[in-house]
Amino acid sequence: MSTSQNGWKAGTKDQIKIVSPKVPGTNVDFPQGVLAGDVETVLMYVAEQFHRTVEPLKDGECWGYFYKNIEGSKELSNHASGTAIDLNAPAHPMGKANTFSATKVKAIRKILDFCEGVVRWGGDYSGRKDDMHFEINKGAADVARVAKKIRALSAPKPPAPAKPPAKPPVKPAQLVVDGKLGPATIKRWQQIMGTEADGVISKPSALVKAVQRHLNAHGARLVVDGDGIRQDGRRYQTARYLQRYLGVPVDGLLSTPVSNTVKALQKRLNDGKF
Ligand SMILES: [Zn+2]
Repeated sequence: MSTSQNGWKAGTKDQIKIVSPKVPGTNVDFPQGVLAGDVETVLMYVAEQFHRTVEPLKDGECWGYFYKNIEGSKELSNHASGTAIDLNAPAHPMGKANTFSATKVKAIRKILDFCEGVVRWGGDYSGRKDDMHFEINKGAADVARVAKKIRALSAPKPPAPAKPPAKPPVKPAQLVVDGKLGPATIKRWQQIMGTEADGVISKPSALVKAVQRHLNAHGARLVVDGDGIRQDGRRYQTARYLQRYLGVPVDGLLSTPVSNTVKALQKRLNDGKF
């Protein structure tokens, strides 16, 4: 296969992959097409920026692939490899110099600079000027590098880093279900009932008062005196209602040294509730 002036493979549309992209943000397309892939990305960037910063592109006046020799030469034109485009061709015909104002040339230079020398402008030809003409001037690796830079411009921003998952609520250490109404069990019970968590059942006890109120709300008929929950082998009315509430045999006493009522209570407290 032959190559065009810039070294890219030239051929028929069947031999090289030519596509007809639309210039992003315009209704202008390149009916004859350009070489698909990185070349397409770079040339369409040039066209888009030209449209935005130099002058609006005119549909039907922008040209691409064309299998032909460079005029007056036996060398294949870069249009023959799909690596050249002509923008607003009629207004900037080949052979006519200075068809762009100084301001427009400045804007063109900016586009070329962004492309890091990968694109050459026909207005820069040393011989016959070709103001409408932009062509790929480097090999595949350079074109790929610039194409990547261009794609990054329009790539959606990576999503903000996901928030770290919320920490699971710290589960208080589980009580040992030993049937003993010790300080740890009392303290947990106090925490759950919302009374001062000192791990002690005083006389009278704010905890026991809270428990009595709670039991009363569940059908007990207790005097709220803050007494009646003690693991001393004696019977208490409050203990009786506590047992009924916990669903254990009801005898009114928290036996020593191990009480099944206290075990039931500890299991319940370990579930974080009373
Ligand atoms: Zn051209």
